[in-house]
Amino acid sequence: MQEILFFLLPIAFYSGWQAARKRYRERQEKRKEISGSFVRGINYLLSEEPDKALDVFLNYPEIDEYTANTFLLLGNLFRNRGEINRALRIHQNLVARSDLSKSQRLAAMLALGEDFFSAGMLDRAESVFTELLKDDPKHAEACEQLRSIYEQLHEWDKAIEITQCAQQQRSKADHARLIAHYYCELATQELQKQNLFRAEETINKAAKAYPASARVIVLKADLAYARGQRGEALEAYQQAIGKDSRLLGMLFSQLVNNFNQPDELERLYVFVQKAFVKTQDAKLFGYLLQLARKLGKLTDMRQQVEEHLTKGKPSLNTLVHSSDMLSSLWREESGCEIAQLQTALQRLAASQPDFQCGHCGYKMHGYLWRCPACHQWDTVSNV
Ligand SMILES: [Zn+2]
Repeated sequence: MQEILFFLLPIAFYSGWQAARKRYRERQEKRKEISGSFVRGINYLLSEEPDKALDVFLNYPEIDEYTANTFLLLGNLFRNRGEINRALRIHQNLVARSDLSKSQRLAAMLALGEDFFSAGMLDRAESVFTELLKDDPKHAEACEQLRSIYEQLHEWDKAIEITQCAQQQRSKADHARLIAHYYCELATQELQKQNLFRAEETINKAAKAYPASARVIVLKADLAYARGQRGEALEAYQQAIGKDSRLLGMLFSQLVNNFNQPDELERLYVFVQKAFVKTQDAKLFGYLLQLARKLGKLTDMRQQVEEHLTKGKPSLNTLVHSSDMLSSLWREESGCEIAQLQTALQRLAASQPDFQCGHCGYKMHGYLWRCPACHQWDTVSNV
């Protein structure tokens, strides 16, 4: 028996060696075939035949770490070139593969969500990022993308919730500022619906999140006005403007329309006059002149206007109001030329945007808390 075994041993050894050699040869051939199709795909890309390249890559038999990264980058390249459909096909194909590691799957889902986001399909993007968070609840980029989606959809409750998850992404103050803005958006909606009690609750939450917010004081003023507490409302508006002088530009028409009683206008006039004397801010000067006109105090302003025109830093806006005032005072003497100058200046001023984003330079006619171009909060101010 032992002799037979001894005799069979070399045969077993030989057949094992043969099988290993065959497997090695097959693997080598397969590898050659895979790298051949990879090169073919790249060649199609280089010769501007992206659809053929796409077919090669989508039918690629095996994915390892390097090819997965290459496909991700390729999809991102298509997205950056605005070829969203191609990017979607690559990333969808990647996500559907069963041979991805967990980190590869997360990266592919993130890229897929970004494709949907770029295509403006926000609901699809939202469901991809939400799915991703089930696998990795603290995934910072997915949280940030979702936050951006909820901002665009004005789903402020969800934005507050997801901002907690993306907290590590930014400084504590920035985080608190964002949360306060979201609560302010909710409070504005409640005020519009005349739900004053809920508005107050929400404003308090905003104040708690970011006590330094001037927007919260504006909302407190809006709430007081809605409750008919005019004195408190005017006081709060002044407090907000004292904190952030840009707000006068945003609130001015609302203030002169809502507080049109002579004593209220006088209060506003004194407030703006004091602020102008303190800061010499030319932007305030235009508003001051408008209030003086409403109160019939143009003669009182004559010296101040002449000083501003000769020594101050007149802007287009203050020129319009100064010429307006001078033309009123001199109408009877030589009104015609000044009136023409005034009309020209008014037309020029009306064509100019009043506000500009300090972050990206985008100009706009009305004040916005969030720049529509770069989506930053609190960056808009008077031009
Ligand atoms: Zn901007």
